[in-house]
Amino acid sequence: MSLLVVGSMAFDSIRSPFGEVEKVVGGSATYFSLAASYLAPVRLVSVVGADFPPEVIRMLGSRSIDTRGLTIAEGRTFHWKGFYEYDLNTAHTVTTELNVFRDFAPVLPEEYRDTPYVFLGNIAPSLQLDILRQVRRPKLIALDTMNYWIESSPGPLREVIEKVDILMVNEGEIRMLTGEYNLVKAARMVIGWGPGRVVIKRGEYGVLNLSDSTMFAAPAYPLETIFDPTGAGDSFAGGFMGYLAGRAGKDLVDNDFRLATMYGSAIASFTVEAFSTERLQNLTPEDISERLGSFLTLTEFRV
Ligand code: AMP
Repeated sequence: MSLLVVGSMAFDSIRSPFGEVEKVVGGSATYFSLAASYLAPVRLVSVVGADFPPEVIRMLGSRSIDTRGLTIAEGRTFHWKGFYEYDLNTAHTVTTELNVFRDFAPVLPEEYRDTPYVFLGNIAPSLQLDILRQVRRPKLIALDTMNYWIESSPGPLREVIEKVDILMVNEGEIRMLTGEYNLVKAARMVIGWGPGRVVIKRGEYGVLNLSDSTMFAAPAYPLETIFDPTGAGDSFAGGFMGYLAGRAGKDLVDNDFRLATMYGSAIASFTVEAFSTERLQNLTPEDISERLGSFLTLTEFRV
């Protein structure tokens, strides 16, 4: 079944201890769509400027990614500039230039409105709310956000959190959002606001997936080569939601959320091996299933 994503498409300028790149293609919706497209058809909603490379849009369209919801506006594409120190878990923002996102008012193509799975990627909470007003009774809605929006837009952010099924954020973000350091308590607090499930991304320490009655923890795959963690969170989300959407309407049980977590972790582990979307773009289904197998071996034990 199809999966709708709204989020940023961007140029990223990134410095990590392993190198530096200027204005490479990034953005939450870009990473998400590519990751999810290995598992389910994606419907993309975003905006880029006239400076965005048309070949990237063609590359997205050549996969199972519907780009009819992508607006090409006059002006410049969103630009994020950031860096990582040796602690690759924390992205430090230098500048966020919203550019074409400043005046963006997404209008969903009619064919998108009945999409059963919806991912509200990292973008202004007011735009995430706009999307929710236009979809018709989706089966499952997940939401991502980041410190930029937690600080600048707390009211609309709280409003959108109350309307979704899954909040998917990193550990720093949920601490900031709730004012609670303990991750289990912070997740419980968010579950009290409305979402039935909270997925906490912990970078190289893996993922915690909590509902009111279950808890699942997955490690991150221990890699020897990590160049750039940008996009890992969105690739994780794409793998997670792509797996659920690929279940073809079957009722979702707890094990589906566990498997979704492992698909997300497997796909995200490739993203960090190169800058931008380079590695993510060139995966095969065999790469993904082999990495899933490696995760099984990694965590298997007998009592
Ligand atoms: P992550 O998957 O969490 O590493 O997110 C990486 C992507 O988030 C980058 O490619 C950025 O372009 C994008 N990004 C950074 N800041 C923002 C923001 N304030 N709103 C939307 N997207 C952002």
